[in-house]
Amino acid sequence: MAKKSGRILIGLACEDCRSVNYVVSKNKLKKTDPLVLKKFCQKCRAYKTHRETKKLD
Ligand SMILES: [Zn+2]
Repeated sequence: MAKKSGRILIGLACEDCRSVNYVVSKNKLKKTDPLVLKKFCQKCRAYKTHRETKKLD
């Protein structure tokens, strides 16, 4: 039985090309702000700002 931890999976999408390059989990109970991270985008081949996008869970 899976316990309810409050963590959800979200996608991180590149701000430029909109492709979802990363999937991270976060605790929605503790962190309510949208995630914004600088990560490498395979499509742009550069470090781009990635924003929280659709919930996967
Ligand atoms: Zn990109």
